[in-house]
Amino acid sequence: MSATANVTKTDFYEVLNVSRDASDQELKTAYRKLAMQYHPDRNPGDHTAEEKFKECSEAYQVLSDPEKRAAYDRYGHAAFNGSSSGSGFGGSPFGGGFGNAQDLGDIFGDLFGEMFNMGGSRGQASRVQRGRDLRYDLTLEFEEAVFGVEREIKIRRSEACRDCRGSGAAKGKQPVTCTQCGGRGQQRFQQGFFSVAKTCSVCGGTGTLIVDPCPTCHGETRLQAEHTIVVKVPAGVEQDTRIRYQGEGEAGKFGGPSGDLYVILNVRAHKFFERDGDDLHCVLPISFPQAALGTELEIQTLEGVETIKIPEGTQSGREFKLRGKGVPHLNERGKGDLIVEIRVQTPAKLNKQQKELLRQLGETMHVENTPTSRGILDKVKEMFN
Ligand SMILES: [Zn+2]
Ligand SMILES: [Zn+2]
Repeated sequence: MSATANVTKTDFYEVLNVSRDASDQELKTAYRKLAMQYHPDRNPGDHTAEEKFKECSEAYQVLSDPEKRAAYDRYGHAAFNGSSSGSGFGGSPFGGGFGNAQDLGDIFGDLFGEMFNMGGSRGQASRVQRGRDLRYDLTLEFEEAVFGVEREIKIRRSEACRDCRGSGAAKGKQPVTCTQCGGRGQQRFQQGFFSVAKTCSVCGGTGTLIVDPCPTCHGETRLQAEHTIVVKVPAGVEQDTRIRYQGEGEAGKFGGPSGDLYVILNVRAHKFFERDGDDLHCVLPISFPQAALGTELEIQTLEGVETIKIPEGTQSGREFKLRGKGVPHLNERGKGDLIVEIRVQTPAKLNKQQKELLRQLGETMHVENTPTSRGILDKVKEMFN
C-alpha cells in the first residue's frame, strides 16, 4: 500500500457504511453484505469491485479487532502508516498479494467458516454428482438363455457434454460462486435461537452458478444421446439375471462418475421344457400299451434327438434322467440334466372292438398286474391284521 493511496483512503466506518459506535454484530453484518456484493468470484474481471472488496475487507479487519479499532479511532489511517514492523499491525491485511484465493480463504476461514468456497474444501454441497443407474429389460427366447446370445440394445441416456467437458460453462469460462448463498449451497434462516439451513434455491445446493453457459448443453453439463450396447448374454442365464455394465448408465453431473447399466433378463417360456435351475423338465405322454409292453422312444432335446428306453410296466409319473442334457452351468463347466416324466394316457374314444379287447384283458388281469393297487391293498391288509 503506497503513501499516496493512504491519503485518499476512505474512512473505514464509511467504507462499511456503519456508525462510529457500531457493535461487533453490526460490523459483521455490514461487512458480510458488502463482501458478498463485491466478492471477486461473482465479479470476475471487475477491478472496481475488486478494489471495493479489498477496501471493505481491510476496514473490517481493523474494526473487528478491538485494539486496532481503538488505534484507528484515535489516529485514523495514520495508525497503520509506515512499515508493518513499526505499527505491528501490518500495512494491509492483504499485503500485496490480493488475488490469491488461498490467502483469502485463510482470512475468511475463521470469520465465516464455510461461507466462501475459497479453497474448494469448505464443505458446501458438491455440484459433482454421480450419474443415475439405468435399467434395461431384455426379453430372451428360452434357447437364447440356455445357450447364450449377443444382443444389441439401444439406450437413451445422458452423456457428458464434450464441448465443456462437463463443466457447464462456455469455453474459457468457469462457474462462479453462487450470489445467493455465497457458495455454501445452503441458506440459513434464524428461527428464534435456532438457525435453520435450507438448500439454496438459486444454485440448488451446488454453491456455484454458471454465468456463461456452454452453448451446446446450456449449462446442463450433459446431453441426451442414444447409445448402442452389445449385451453378451452368457449361456445358462435365468429369469431375472442381472448383467451389470459399469459406467454405462447416466453420465454424472459436472463431470461426476457415470452410473451403471443393469440389464435385467426376462426369459420366455418354452412350450415343452421347464427349467428348474440347470435341470430341464418335460412331460412325455405314452400310450397304455407302450407303458405296459415297453418301447423305445425318440425325444427332441434342446440339442438334438435322444432315444429313451421305456421298460415294460412303466408307471405314469416315472422320471427318466438324461444326464448332461440340461442347461449349461453359468460361468462353470458342465450342464444340468434333462428329466423326462412319463405320463401314461388312459385310452379314450375306443371303438367296439378295442373295448372288447380291453374287456377280455381286464378279465384276465390279477392284482399282480396292477402294482400300484396291489401296494394299496397290502397296506389296507396290514391295517386290519
Ligand atoms: Zn456443455
Ligand atoms: Zn446458492
